[in-house]
Amino acid sequence: MNERDSDAVATLLRDKGYSIVNEEKTADVILLNTCSVREQAEQKAIGKAGYITARKRRNPNLVVGIMGCMAQNKGNDLVDKLPDLDLIIGTQKFHRVPDHLSNFIKSMSGLGPRPNTIIDIEEEKGSQNTIKSHAEEKKVSAFVSIMQGCNMKCSYCIVPKTRGSERARPSSEIISEIKDLAKKGTKEITLLGQIVNQYAVREFPFLEKKSPFVQLLEKVNAIDGIERIRFTSPHPVGFKDDLIECYKRLPKLCEYLHFPMQSGSNRILKAMRRPYSIEKFKHIIEKLRAIKPDIYISTDIIVGFPEENEDDFEATRSAFESIGFDMAYIFKYSVRPGTTAEPKGDPVSREIKEQRNQVLLDILNKSSLARNQSLIGTTQEILLEGHAKRGNNMFTGRTRGYRKVFTHASDRLIGELVEVKITKATASSLTGDLVITN
Ligand code: SF4
Repeated sequence: MNERDSDAVATLLRDKGYSIVNEEKTADVILLNTCSVREQAEQKAIGKAGYITARKRRNPNLVVGIMGCMAQNKGNDLVDKLPDLDLIIGTQKFHRVPDHLSNFIKSMSGLGPRPNTIIDIEEEKGSQNTIKSHAEEKKVSAFVSIMQGCNMKCSYCIVPKTRGSERARPSSEIISEIKDLAKKGTKEITLLGQIVNQYAVREFPFLEKKSPFVQLLEKVNAIDGIERIRFTSPHPVGFKDDLIECYKRLPKLCEYLHFPMQSGSNRILKAMRRPYSIEKFKHIIEKLRAIKPDIYISTDIIVGFPEENEDDFEATRSAFESIGFDMAYIFKYSVRPGTTAEPKGDPVSREIKEQRNQVLLDILNKSSLARNQSLIGTTQEILLEGHAKRGNNMFTGRTRGYRKVFTHASDRLIGELVEVKITKATASSLTGDLVITN
């Protein structure tokens, strides 16, 4: 989501005549888009902003801003920590960045004192409709934000505070944005929302027992030029049969699902205020696998949530192993201010969190490697995204199951669906040979 927001702001700035430079050192304006989901992310952003603002001593015309979740979360407090910051722009104000920037730059001219920091973190009605600009150049794969905010109150999560309550964009606007992307050559769309399957449940009606999100998927599936659809992140609540059946009915919907489990212990799920049981979570996966046996599933897990004892972790470990995830983001719990879990503190020691993290990582490595090795000798459809960093004329792309693939190819194939015969596998990627068809 942050990547998408940054991209939209960069496009708005380009439209105003700014250009994006490749090296931070050569920039006249540096904007940091920030994350508050873990304490470490905030510490990193503050450290980085401190390092950049220190450069203003040598270059007083450098403009530095912080936007996004940490700007929203900390607001004025950021100025106490970083008095040289010029802009602090919240999550509902990304579209206002060009105006704030030009106002700030105008007020800088002259020999007077440095203008006051511009702080804009108010709520704004309709702000969910403003993340829609995409760069003119062709994007092979594009994120499309379909909603903002979240009405859940997971006890560890700061997102409802930083992103506000759930607000959906009209589906007609989403569809027209995707049609424009398709015209420019985009082949793959990832629909984004905090709880993407809750899209517009309050605003738009269910039709023939299909949720507004399923209706949206059907419309995206019908757009010429779009070949692949993904979405992130769904919640087990509201993941009903109408959505499960999409994996059978909608050919463009990729066999991949990011499905946050968070814990395998019902006691901890309750303490996290995640309103489902591990049995229900597994049942959804069973139904999905019955429809799409080859579906790839990734997840999010938090280890070391307050009160997570050995039995709770064992429940997580066992569920994690038996489900057999293909990928996972495993987080060590950190207290977020203003959440309902904050008063519980952070009683699980760092060492125990580290051990639990490692246990899950070891399981993940094994299952991910085994799944990838099972693809050796098969031919996979890859959407070729571009040059790989590893060089040697290697290119990179992804399978429908979101596995990263490296292959030799050529520039003219970037953005195309190609066939690759898999020859090598690690836990995190595949390598293969392009299959030449005449
Ligand atoms: S569903 Fe829970 S974890 Fe996800 S954004 Fe909402 S409050 Fe946070």
